[in-house]
Amino acid sequence: AIFPRREIRVKGAISMANDTARNVGPVILLGPPGAGKGTQSKRIVDRYGVPQISTGDLLRDHVARGTELGLEAKAIMARGELVPDELMYGIVANRLREADCQRGFVLDGFPRTAAQAGWLDAFLEKEVFDKGSEKRSDKGSEYPQNCPPVVIQLLVDYTQLLLRLTGRRSCPTCGRLYNIHFQPPLVDELCDVDGSKLVIRNDDREEVISGRLAAYETQTRLVTDYYRAQRRLVAINADRPVEEVTAQIFGVIDSHGNDSHGRVDTRSGTTTQS
Ligand code: ADP
Ligand code: AMP
Repeated sequence: AIFPRREIRVKGAISMANDTARNVGPVILLGPPGAGKGTQSKRIVDRYGVPQISTGDLLRDHVARGTELGLEAKAIMARGELVPDELMYGIVANRLREADCQRGFVLDGFPRTAAQAGWLDAFLEKEVFDKGSEKRSDKGSEYPQNCPPVVIQLLVDYTQLLLRLTGRRSCPTCGRLYNIHFQPPLVDELCDVDGSKLVIRNDDREEVISGRLAAYETQTRLVTDYYRAQRRLVAINADRPVEEVTAQIFGVIDSHGNDSHGRVDTRSGTTTQS
C-alpha cells in the first residue's frame, strides 16, 4: 500500500498522543461553512504531522497577492459563490505534489462539487505521493484501493452554523481561529498567541453567509452523495464541543482501514458507511 495504515488503536481507548510517524493518507473533511473544518484540520495537523490544505486559504492568499487567479476569484468569493472547478484543479494539484503531502494531508474545503470529487479520485489514482516507495508503473490502477481517502462529514445544526460564522474571528498573523460566542480570546479582539488584532473574514457578513450556505446545499451536498455511494462517508455529529468532535475524528482516522464495514459505532455516535 502507498499509505500503509499501522494499527495503533488500543481496544476501547484512543490514544491522544501525537502520532507523527505513520502514513495517514488523504483525509477529507466535508461540511457546510462554519462546520468546524478549519478548527479540526489544525488539530489533525498537530496530532499526525500532515499538512492542512484549505482551498479557501489558498485562494485568499492568491487574492492578497493579486495573482491572475486571485483577481478572477476575488469577486466570486466576495459574493459567496464557488470559484469555477477549472480554476481549482491547478492550485490543488500543485499543492498536493509538494513533499510534505507524502504521508498524507487534510483537505479542508475541497472537493466542493461532484466534478471536483471525480477529479480528485482521478488525481489520486495517477499521482505518486510516496515517491520513496513503489513507482507509478508498479501500482497501476490499484492506487485508490490501496489508499482510500478517509471522508468525514461534519453535521451541524443550521442555527448553530449562523452563530459560528457570524462569531468567527481569526488572527491575521498566526491563523488561529476564535469565536466571540464559543472560543473568545482572553483579551477582546486580540490574539492570545501574538497579540495581533483579530479580523473578520470578508465573506462572514450576514448578506454573504446565506449565499454560501445555499451554494453548499445545491452544489456541495452532491459531494456527500458521491462519497456515500462509494460507501466511504463517515458522518459525525459536530454540534458538540471542539474536543469531543476532535476525539471522534481521531477515532475515525485511527481505525480507518481496520474497521468493519457498514456499521454504526454506537459508542462514539459516528455512522460508518464505508
Ligand atoms: P469551517 O472551516 O468549516 O468554515 P471553522 O473551523 O472556521 O469552520 O469554524 C467556524 C467557527 O466556529 C470558528 O469561529 C470556530 O472557532 C467555531 N467553532 C468550530 N468548531 C466549533 C465547535 N465544535 N463548537 C463551537 N464553535 C466551534
Ligand atoms: P472557505 O474558506 O472554505 O469557506 O472558502 C471560502 C471561499 O473560497 C468559498 O466561499 C468559495 O468562494 C471559495 N472556495 C474555497 N474552496 C473552493 C472549492 N473547492 N471550489 C470552489 N470554490 C472554493
